[in-house]
Amino acid sequence: MELTPAFHGLVCPACTAESESVFDQQCPSCGAPLESTYAYDERSAADLFEQTEAASHGHWRFDALLPFDRSTAISAAEGETPLCKTDRLVEELDVGEVYIKDEGRNPTGTVYDRGMSLVATALSGHDNPSDLEPLALASTGNSGQSAAAYVGRLGLRSYAFVPSRSAFSNKAMINVHGGQMRVVGGRYGDAADAVDEQLAADYYSLQEFATPYRHEGAKTLAFELYSNLGEVPDVVFVPTSTGEIVTGVGRGFEELTKIGCTESTPTIVAVQPTSCAPIATALEGGRDSPEPWAHPDTIIGELEVADPAGGSQAVETLRRLDGSAVTVDDSDSLDAATTIAHNEIIEMGPAGGAAAAGAWSWAENDAFDGDETVVILNTDGGVKTPDILRSHLMGQGR
Ligand SMILES: [Zn+2]
Repeated sequence: MELTPAFHGLVCPACTAESESVFDQQCPSCGAPLESTYAYDERSAADLFEQTEAASHGHWRFDALLPFDRSTAISAAEGETPLCKTDRLVEELDVGEVYIKDEGRNPTGTVYDRGMSLVATALSGHDNPSDLEPLALASTGNSGQSAAAYVGRLGLRSYAFVPSRSAFSNKAMINVHGGQMRVVGGRYGDAADAVDEQLAADYYSLQEFATPYRHEGAKTLAFELYSNLGEVPDVVFVPTSTGEIVTGVGRGFEELTKIGCTESTPTIVAVQPTSCAPIATALEGGRDSPEPWAHPDTIIGELEVADPAGGSQAVETLRRLDGSAVTVDDSDSLDAATTIAHNEIIEMGPAGGAAAAGAWSWAENDAFDGDETVVILNTDGGVKTPDILRSHLMGQGR
């Protein structure tokens, strides 16, 4: 692993302590999540969009503003996912342009591959990474699958703790990638509790905001949208659970202003299920950090995170960037995912369907001006949860 020239190490945003090691898990002084810092000079701006063979590098083509050099990346060309133009949605939403950013086409079919690629690359620079074993995280499913894949590439032992309700495809592929799996009865919060209980807190955490690199990896989404469109979009709908993706995407767009590519940032809209919406509720209620959601109950398992690790970071990001939030019913999210699969070819997961339902909700409430460029983020492939999508159709007699 090789550090990039612009990377200036990990710094604590709470107490400004600088970390000595790129392997640190949270601030050594106060325990707050660490952030990567960079020298935002003109060289970074020029380097960020230099032409590379994107097909082989994936999102590592943007390593000018990543901590690690692309030549040393642990990568399966994640990122550089298609930005699909959808003319039918333009008519339905009555806006200028609508695109679906299809993160289902990442190596393990999820947006989380971006961050896990950075995590694995960091670990590859450790003198004796097996000293860190076991590595572990709790996951609603996709991030566990992704972690198993990237940490498996390093030959390290990892555990993914998943709630019993997570998708069969996630459980199967965690094992196929060589990871160990612990299925925990109950919901995501129970899986999170079980990590410390079963491993006696003696493990290297792959959890979002324990490692500084997962949300850092998500920021390349912003760079790709800018690169593909030639400008920043106007509105980006982001399915929201842990707060990791909202925080990372927001950070990416802010960095584009810091290096002089653009003066404005898009309106980022966090979309959560009505029955598990701690971040949306905190934003609307003027709170700095979300209250844990007492009774989460959504069929969209990937979005059923009652006590998000990055809740305060997500709320802070949305507030700083003048973002917004919207909540959507499960049936509307599944309607959106299945309608888009029917009409637009793209296989959206239920979480991506929630993002699309959020856009429909905006249209119904006349929240668009009419000329916006809108991006809907599909965070995972529909092939991971075909049972949920199909049973929704059957429930409607279709
Ligand atoms: Zn600190």
